[in-house]
Amino acid sequence: MLSLRSLFSKFFKNTTSTKKSAMINLILFGPPGSGKGTQATHLVDKYNLLHISTGDLFRSEIGNKTPLGLEAKSYIDKGELVPDSVTIGMLKKKVDENPDVKGYIFDGFPRTIPQAKALDTMLRESGQSVTLLLALQVDEEEIVTRLLNRAKTSGRSDDADENIIRNRIQVYLQNTAVVAGHYAESDKSVTVNGMGGIEEVFGRLTAEIDKTLVHQ
Ligand code: ADP
Repeated sequence: MLSLRSLFSKFFKNTTSTKKSAMINLILFGPPGSGKGTQATHLVDKYNLLHISTGDLFRSEIGNKTPLGLEAKSYIDKGELVPDSVTIGMLKKKVDENPDVKGYIFDGFPRTIPQAKALDTMLRESGQSVTLLLALQVDEEEIVTRLLNRAKTSGRSDDADENIIRNRIQVYLQNTAVVAGHYAESDKSVTVNGMGGIEEVFGRLTAEIDKTLVHQ
């Protein structure tokens, strides 16, 4: 027989574990050059989250000349997606290394439906889920202008060539845009106008996030 005290503590433990499922897990979504990275750095400050950018993780692997980096480079240089198995493995490793956070901002991930499903499964295994996907919308010509400008300071070769940029936009439209639809099925996807100044776009994003958090 369970004593009243153990019943209480059992209940208390359960409520504590439910609390963990209230982490804030955001997906910052949108085509290359839509401002995901810029906005993520501001959002992590406001909501105290861990920013995970698969693009940054790949560039770090490339910088360290690891086998994963060398493989990723051959795709990134052409503006193609790195294969799902490589990307998902790298992402999982980063999440596993940082379990004690208030939540995550995924930037540049998921970029395919299998990546989205892998993320959902991974979060579900620890009693969590995606809170909201925010899709930044920016005109194609604005994207090209922004990325060519970024190339002048970033040193990123995938930003320096207009053909590669246009290929990345095509890959986004063909393989990635459907991911927003996947989260729309569970009413967790919103579009946000990404045109305008950084603060203006930040205001639109936080308005959507705060609206969702109130109802969580
Ligand atoms: P951007 O959003 O400006 O394209 P990123 O830094 O997010 O920049 O990505 C750069 C490149 O890294 C992509 O073009 C792609 O080749 C690769 N990459 C990043 N994230 C992923 C991912 N989730 N799946 C596959 N490839 C990825």
